[in-house]
Amino acid sequence: MSALTDNIGKASGYLKRFTDRPVLHRIAGEDVAASDGGTFETISPIDLKPIAKVARGTAVDVDRAAKAAKAAFPAWAAMPGDKRKALLHKIADAIVARAEEIAFVECVDTGQALRFMSKAALRGAENFRFFADLAPGARDGKTLYAPGQINLTSRAPVGPVGIITPWNTPFMLSTWKIAPALAAGCTVVHKPAELSPLTARLLVEIAEEAGLPKGVWNLVNGFGEDAGKALTEHPGIKAIGFVGESRTGSMIMAQGAATLKRVHFELGGKNPVIVFADADLERAADAAVFMIYSLNGERCTSSSRLLVEASIHDKFVGMVAERAKRIKVGHPLDPETVIGPLIHPTHEAKVLNYIAIGKSEGATVAVGGGKVEGPGGGCYVGATLFSNARNTMRIAQEEIFGPVLTAIPFATAGEAISLANDVPYGLAAYLWINDLARALNVSSALDAGMVWVNSENVRHLPAPFGGVKSSGIGRDGGDWSFDFYMETKNTAIATAAHAIPRLGG
Ligand code: NAD
Repeated sequence: MSALTDNIGKASGYLKRFTDRPVLHRIAGEDVAASDGGTFETISPIDLKPIAKVARGTAVDVDRAAKAAKAAFPAWAAMPGDKRKALLHKIADAIVARAEEIAFVECVDTGQALRFMSKAALRGAENFRFFADLAPGARDGKTLYAPGQINLTSRAPVGPVGIITPWNTPFMLSTWKIAPALAAGCTVVHKPAELSPLTARLLVEIAEEAGLPKGVWNLVNGFGEDAGKALTEHPGIKAIGFVGESRTGSMIMAQGAATLKRVHFELGGKNPVIVFADADLERAADAAVFMIYSLNGERCTSSSRLLVEASIHDKFVGMVAERAKRIKVGHPLDPETVIGPLIHPTHEAKVLNYIAIGKSEGATVAVGGGKVEGPGGGCYVGATLFSNARNTMRIAQEEIFGPVLTAIPFATAGEAISLANDVPYGLAAYLWINDLARALNVSSALDAGMVWVNSENVRHLPAPFGGVKSSGIGRDGGDWSFDFYMETKNTAIATAAHAIPRLGG
């Protein structure tokens, strides 16, 4: 039996529970149908066939979940940090134990290739372990001395929070947002994306089985415009951690205004990879190809603009093209596949439309440039490379969120910086360069929340993650996550009998 046939067999075993009965919300440790009995179907992008019926959350469901999170908050917030730490480690252990199931369900629900998703569960477990270890110190603050006064700061969890996640790597992103909230002592209502809701269900189930008290983590499925909106407007929800598109972020900010919602946004990107002539070109080409064609290009930190110094432009673009031509598009459960089907026919149409726009704008299709017939007949698009492009073209300005790379030459470091910055986004930038002083100067001039020098996106969990401009508000990672999920209090204590102004005396 081939590895693919074997994997398809295993996946259908793991998916049976979802095909057999509807996926319900999980509120206060119970399975709950939508208040009006509504459901929606999630399809697999492999063959466009339905894989599950899912409860379609209403404002009533969100209210119920928010109340459950509120009821669970005092005990969870008061639990000693070392106990929360032990529980979060147990969740991580349970994720590892079900890593294969998580990976296979994720591949079929999202179309992401197994070679990447097989690590998603382990990355998710690492997120829990990292924040588990920080839980005991989360409340700690500073001591600030002044003449005749000591100031003590301390932190406390903000309360129940809403977490809204996108469809591209739903399992990993859910753990990235939820683990720090729980470690901080917040309770959670999670609204996963409607296009790939299945692994969020596995995750909350795993957490409860590991011993998380009922109501600490609640899951409401559904659409952004009803369940998502209701969550952002709910007065009992104190903050919204959101990952998704920039224009959805704007909507959430408006929706949350009436209740003065605290928001944390991880949004879109149009990230440049800037290659200077003195760089290690083989490594730079490997990294540029990896960062645009892994995860189907459906990745916020994808290197979707390739800015190359003019003297090496043709040679380097040729190296990237050679690699891109050999990239295998195929069934996501085939271990050889790099690019699987895109999430949904509407997204596939959007990506194909951008490819048509690029052609009509006058860019050259160096590789790919269209739909590919793949197993199941789903949303397959080939690795695509545009050359002879200008930064003003829509394919260089707008987030395509697919396997499409746009190459643009530059003459000087100054021009590279201005091209890199001349987009609405500012999430990540990648810099390939050998001259250290120049690397530091270029890096500091880039409008980006994160710059990787001579590297692809290699995450270090204590380091800050987030973007500037239309790419986001706030940072995740290490203590930055706690700054969002916690309130800081200052207590000032007089240590000397200072003169108090006597009024009316
Ligand atoms: P999206 O904004 O369409 O949806 C994200 C989530 O928001 C979904 O759960 C959706 O149901 C919900 N939503 C939609 N409208 C809402 C509303 N009015 N109120 C409340 N919730 C609402 O994004 P997507 O298409 O699922 O994901 C792709 C986007 O996510 C891309 O732009 C990508 O760059 C971004 N992303 C960013 C990061 C990051 O860390 N910066 C990571 C992954 C993805």
